[in-house]
Amino acid sequence: MQGEKHIKTYIKYLLFFSFCIALPLTGQAQSSTASAVAQWRQSHEREIIEEYLELLSIPNVSRNGEDISANVVKITALFEALDFDVSTSAESNPEDANAPLIIATKLTANAAGTLLFYIHYDGVPVTPALWSTCPPFQPCIANDGEVIELTDNIQSFDPQWRIHGRSASDDKAPIMSMAQAIKALAATDQTPAWNIVLLLDGQEESGSANFRRYLSEHGDSLQADLAITLDGPRHPSTRPTMYYGVRGGASLLVKVHTAQQPLHSGNYGNWAPDPSVSLGRLLASMKDENGRITIDGFYDQVTPLTFNELQALDSIPNIENELLVEFGIAEPEQADTRLEAKLNLPTLNILAMDSGGGLSAPGITAIPAFAQARIAMRLVQGIDPVQQQEKVIAHIRAQGFHVIENREPSASERLQYPRLVSVSYTGGRAAVRVPFGHPLTDAVANAISLDGIRPAQLPTLGGGLPFGDFAEGLDMPTVGVALVNHDNNQHGPDENLKIQNLWEGIEILSRILTMPAP
Ligand SMILES: [Zn+2]
Repeated sequence: MQGEKHIKTYIKYLLFFSFCIALPLTGQAQSSTASAVAQWRQSHEREIIEEYLELLSIPNVSRNGEDISANVVKITALFEALDFDVSTSAESNPEDANAPLIIATKLTANAAGTLLFYIHYDGVPVTPALWSTCPPFQPCIANDGEVIELTDNIQSFDPQWRIHGRSASDDKAPIMSMAQAIKALAATDQTPAWNIVLLLDGQEESGSANFRRYLSEHGDSLQADLAITLDGPRHPSTRPTMYYGVRGGASLLVKVHTAQQPLHSGNYGNWAPDPSVSLGRLLASMKDENGRITIDGFYDQVTPLTFNELQALDSIPNIENELLVEFGIAEPEQADTRLEAKLNLPTLNILAMDSGGGLSAPGITAIPAFAQARIAMRLVQGIDPVQQQEKVIAHIRAQGFHVIENREPSASERLQYPRLVSVSYTGGRAAVRVPFGHPLTDAVANAISLDGIRPAQLPTLGGGLPFGDFAEGLDMPTVGVALVNHDNNQHGPDENLKIQNLWEGIEILSRILTMPAP
């Protein structure tokens, strides 16, 4: 109930402030804003880093309620100390208690309007044994993987050093950058030009159920001129980066069945069918030698890029040669198209395969009874996730397999079909892309041009995140701003944030918060 009250007060404020005349900063004033912020940051580096290490030391594994709750307490305190009005979705939905959406609002006199930012504070699960720098929730500073002991005399930080820890980049970096940008503006006697609403999701890595329920119940009260999603990596050229859409996704588990049980490879080799080979052939039939997906109709629904979008791609530096060296790759898939254009095409990848219990299982010299693979697709605007899954299934049938869906085969099916596959899948999510050229997204592009370099403007971010909930669900102008380094090991071991990206994140957000209304 308190949340309702809070929203009503907020709307009252908004109505009041919308009568006031906005006093936007000019471009020149903005760059002096940014340099004042940079100066403030230089004299507070140690403090900022320590505050960030503290935030990262709170475990935030999505679906682990206790972990998530401790973050809520910390993040609430962080923004209340910066004069935000903070509430959570648990106030109106007690069942959200373990992973609520945090809503933090800060109003400005004479605001040019309202900017709504989406960030998430949960992270993907960790396997501590795989982390080579420091454990995922005992964050550290490292130079090229070598841990640097934070002795008292370190007050300034080499921007090439990295902060290691789960969510260092995905997605606590924008939380800390935002908090420090607000602090820096206040410390340098500047005020944001906009009312600020932060929506901090505690379930982004596990489906954002509470966020979506909150939006369906209270979305109408979220009046903002522009929604900005703060997530995802900057372009590898290190240019400031904006994105105008996100990928959708769908996945399938495909299992080839050959026998009821594993069979001795001596007694039954040359006789018992081999599911691993059968699965291998099936998967190989889905792509040609160049990595182009050969499933019938796979690219049919793709919405082509517009002239402006193609032009934006052309102006982004091509960094593929550097990436080949960095990742140790001899030749990319579909080498005739540049990476940034390929982000606007659907993908199909085998993320995991399993037969005989995997290589780490004790060798039992038996031919496995089944082999399975997890197929993941990233989708782009225009593609219907369910139809795309159906195309994959139709392809499997076309290879001569009998396909059963979402269950194991019966004894009679095993006897009847020599080529037998079961497929499990659930819905999926469609991609979203908004057109270039909205005055407010143009204003963001102008605001974050650093030293005269225009941001990389990607029509589609590689990954997926709640972008359509704003752009389509709330019909709100929406754009994404990426802050973190491209090589951050997001979702993997040794996730990290380059300190330079933290410093620039503070600057980028302070520029957005003080940008003039178009
Ligand atoms: Zn994220």
